[in-house]
Amino acid sequence: MYWNKEMETLTGDDLDRLQARHLRWTVKQAQKVPFYKKLLNDAGIYADDIRRKEDIVKLPFTTKKDLQSGYPFGFFAVPKKEIVRIHTTSGTTGKPTVVGYTRKDLENWSELIARNMTMVGLTDEDTFQNAVNYGLFTGGLGFHYGAEKVGMTVIPSGTGNTKRQIEMIDDFGVTAMHCTPGYALHLAEVAEQMGTKLESFKTGMFGAEPWSENMRKTLEEKLAVTAYDSYGMSEMYGPGAAFECPEKDGLHFWHDSYLIEIIDPETGESLSPGEKGELVVTPLVKEAMPLIRYRTGDITYIIDDECPCKRGDRIARITGRSDDMLVIRGINIFPSQIEHVLKSLPEVGDQFMVYVDRVNHLDEMTIDTEIKREYFSGELSDLEKIQKKIIHQLRETLNIRTSVNLVEPESLPRFEGKAKRVIDKRGDKI
Ligand code: ADP
Ligand code: ZN
Repeated sequence: MYWNKEMETLTGDDLDRLQARHLRWTVKQAQKVPFYKKLLNDAGIYADDIRRKEDIVKLPFTTKKDLQSGYPFGFFAVPKKEIVRIHTTSGTTGKPTVVGYTRKDLENWSELIARNMTMVGLTDEDTFQNAVNYGLFTGGLGFHYGAEKVGMTVIPSGTGNTKRQIEMIDDFGVTAMHCTPGYALHLAEVAEQMGTKLESFKTGMFGAEPWSENMRKTLEEKLAVTAYDSYGMSEMYGPGAAFECPEKDGLHFWHDSYLIEIIDPETGESLSPGEKGELVVTPLVKEAMPLIRYRTGDITYIIDDECPCKRGDRIARITGRSDDMLVIRGINIFPSQIEHVLKSLPEVGDQFMVYVDRVNHLDEMTIDTEIKREYFSGELSDLEKIQKKIIHQLRETLNIRTSVNLVEPESLPRFEGKAKRVIDKRGDKI
């Protein structure tokens, strides 16, 4: 199902022309921001130099540091009175970035969310529970207004009070939910304890943090939903910039609203489809806060074969952000890879934590992982076997040696928003 079939499936010259026009407009809009005015002047590039979308490579990059230097309102391209809302990033990597929206921006954003939800089969017949934080985090109001635009019955439940959330699902006949994958897992656990099968449920939209294919299997099984991946960031309005279609094979980036590139994070050099690197995004329709070649820090690649649904460019699921990547004795590891290995083992429970430290100048990684209750009550020797198996599997797949502690089910922290599963203590010891 399509919300805006013509735009979603635009191809060839029509798409190229539209993207070039939007890119030119975005550069003009950016010139209203003193930071960009100077940056573009220094580089000797002006909006009229942008004839084709390929001309994007002439433009300079923007980094998170640049945005932070403009805190709070330095990147707004419109007078403050035209800003009708403000959000901030969750500040995973330092001081939060402030983003602003004009009325038109909010309309554009709702349109994208409406496309996503329609793409996975949701309609005005659905009842939608939005179990994310409704504050400054973009996932709350962003999804909320998109779902209302489709005409769904929206339950703005927010996070917390998990038992009540589950009662609402059953009492109100909720068919679709949006939350972080970590919170979805917690909901599943509590639902199990409460003895409900959440029969009305059919669609889960999960995002805001990396999650693995094995996590998808677990969530689909435990919640009896089809689970879709939702990607975005505050700088691109919020969630919904890219979303999985029913093929569940990569996330479509809305090609009329964003231009995407993949670069080598070290050299800044452009990479080809299929090559993994850092995602760079240029939003094409943002009025309040235009951005040029924004370096997301997120690692992925462009999938260039055509999807049966005929929508545009797809990216592979994000494995992590470049600043999330752990380098353990020279080996690059993303927490999502650890999750993938752990979730492939039937004995392993729901949560894990990773601790990295430096002992005698050597990196040491320790993983605390919950074990399912039925395995926990067994003999000590059985537990040792499980522990060895986990260590072995991690070494086989990730090529690293780790220490593993088995802990009781439900003993590790649960996260309602973005999970913080890695504690790296090496920085304290230089
Ligand atoms: P912050 O950068 O402070 O966390 P945001 O709340 O805007 O601010 O979060 C955006 C980031 O969240 C992205 O850059 C990405 O790292 C992560 N993210 C969002 N959705 C996903 C997803 N589906 N898969 C993996 N990572 C995601
Ligand atoms: Zn598709």
